Amino acid sequence: MTKQDIENIKELLATPKNIVIVPHRNPDGDAIGSTLGLYHYLLKHNHKAIVIVPNDYPKFLKWIPGEHSILKHDSQTEECDDLIKNADIIFTLDFNAMHRTGQMETVLSESDALKIMIDHHQKPDDYATYMFSDVSMSSTCEMIYHFIDMLNDTKLIDENIATCLYVGIMTDTGSFRFSSTTNKTHQIVAHLIEKGANNAEIHNNVYDTNSYERLQLLGCALNNLKVIPELKTAYITLSQDELNSFDYKKGDTEGVVNYSLSLENIVFAAIFIEDRKEGIIKISLRSKGEFSVNEFSRAHFEGGGHTNAAGGKSNLSLKNTVDKFISILPQYKNALNNE
Ligand code: 5GP
Ligand code: MN
Repeated sequence: MTKQDIENIKELLATPKNIVIVPHRNPDGDAIGSTLGLYHYLLKHNHKAIVIVPNDYPKFLKWIPGEHSILKHDSQTEECDDLIKNADIIFTLDFNAMHRTGQMETVLSESDALKIMIDHHQKPDDYATYMFSDVSMSSTCEMIYHFIDMLNDTKLIDENIATCLYVGIMTDTGSFRFSSTTNKTHQIVAHLIEKGANNAEIHNNVYDTNSYERLQLLGCALNNLKVIPELKTAYITLSQDELNSFDYKKGDTEGVVNYSLSLENIVFAAIFIEDRKEGIIKISLRSKGEFSVNEFSRAHFEGGGHTNAAGGKSNLSLKNTVDKFISILPQYKNALNNE
């Protein structure tokens, strides 16, 4: 984003506008935190802002300030489409390819609104008028902080904005431990705490509100864990029947893939989760070091993301997806063993 871009955006935001803010489908902590953080900020400038999510998000995010104002496109389609059609500006946050909004892709692409992308994923598509894209950033929430800073407005950060941005930085950095966490990230987080983000309470709300069934599902997942030591790879499977037997709710499998990566000498971890309703296997990939799961997912599983965290999918059965994964792995033997 150039200085001129910032000047243009400042001018654009100098008078009240109709603004729609959209994250990716199946929004996570960074998606909800960044959209609501920006929402609270824009309200301070008297804009008519609204967050529209493509579909629902996990219960552990349903306490974040402003959460009740969020509209869901899949269940409130008409209202959402009207807002999108009448929008002057659409912010697209925490994704960089329109298809990641699922069924919202068409209405968003057809809209004449000026589009501003703020995102930290690799290989951005070219759909936005203004693009703030930086793959070195820990999270989109960290970028929203920088965005507010570029507009010389950090003085406007209050408890609500600070809380929202803290959530996304915390969840996308694995509680400040992934390599994307920099000294600047910590400085920003310190500032957010100063502005009223209650770090202990936020952590508790997101991570310590498990149901008994969710922990039992985790037990099932860990029981299914398989290790391929010669390829430094570990993977987990969860079938739809297993999910059903533990009363699966959206978000229950979030973070499970990280357990495989905590194994000694493992640099590549995967989880394969059957979704019978969508007719796909949802895949989450994680790595340590240089091995790029973004490249791996793009090449084999119609997905992408970051070097060390990516998503993907497969239309094969759960067993055939895992077989495909295992058959591909030897191609990466050198890369995996160099880690
Ligand atoms: P997760 O495994 O938690 O679903 O996703 C890991 C990371 O990859 C997240 O940053 C997520 O936004 C991104 N991601 C997940 N699925 C896709 C995808 O299909 N395409 C791209 N480009 N990124 C994805
Ligand atoms: Mn993110």
